[in-house]
Amino acid sequence: MLKGKTAVVTGSTSGIGLGCARAFAAEGANVVINGLGDAAEIEATRAAIEADYGVTCVYSPANMLNAEEIEGMIQMAEKDLGSVDILVNNAGIQHVSPVEEFPIGKWDAIIAINLSSAFHAIRAAVPGMKQRGWGRIINTASAHALVASPYKSAYVAAKHGIAGLTKTVALEVAQDGITVNAICPGYVWTPLVEAQIPDTMKARNLTEEEVKRDVLLKAQPTKEFVTIEQVAGYAAFLCSDTASAITGSILPIDGGWTAQ
Ligand code: NAD
Repeated sequence: MLKGKTAVVTGSTSGIGLGCARAFAAEGANVVINGLGDAAEIEATRAAIEADYGVTCVYSPANMLNAEEIEGMIQMAEKDLGSVDILVNNAGIQHVSPVEEFPIGKWDAIIAINLSSAFHAIRAAVPGMKQRGWGRIINTASAHALVASPYKSAYVAAKHGIAGLTKTVALEVAQDGITVNAICPGYVWTPLVEAQIPDTMKARNLTEEEVKRDVLLKAQPTKEFVTIEQVAGYAAFLCSDTASAITGSILPIDGGWTAQ
């Protein structure tokens, strides 16, 4: 379905981003993976994508805190792989703390990585997509783009911001063959969720099991984590021709969380 296309997925050295990169590669796309982590592990991930799917996979070390590096990542993809047809703005971090104690540096980093990086990547990728008359921009938002939870002020603000960015850009490129959507997962079991458990235990004075049951899955009527494969499959569907009328949409995949 995606043979001859190139997908750039930010934050794809683990979790949902890696799932998306693998799903696109499985459909024949060449992929640019990006993110932090151990160099040898990243190289193993990159090589495995090439071996498993017979596509080209390139790693970009661009830091999503740095606008120039983000622009450089898009330029590298266009130069080395010929185009950026699919862009998934997925890199993200989390910090859990009451607002009056929220570290200013954490606020700035979350807004930069979870929101501003998407703007910088979109800004750099849209001209090429317009030229070719085809593009798919998918922003990994969150159920927190639609509803809030306490102690996540920066994350919820960034994800609501992503929803606004998604709708705005979708309107701007609606006649250029480019769709722009936000996928809003509920809780997916990834390192990002695992890492926030200790802080949530502290902020709410709960045990690990209580955090999983009474905080995380409390909001999710299915009482099950969403899987990486389900989110990646949704992203791949949005790249299909069948999905070409879906644009400017804020799309939950959250086990019923935001139905409440
Ligand atoms: P993850 O921690 O597994 O992945 C995050 C990725 O972002 C990693 O590859 C990491 O290296 C990368 N990253 C972090 N800081 C970076 C930086 N400065 N520059 C470049 N890359 C950077 O987490 P995940 O759960 O897969 O999260 C992916 C996205 O999904 C995030 O935007 C997150 O907010 C969103 N999301 C996750 C869940 C969930 O329950 N896991 C739910 C809703 C939305």
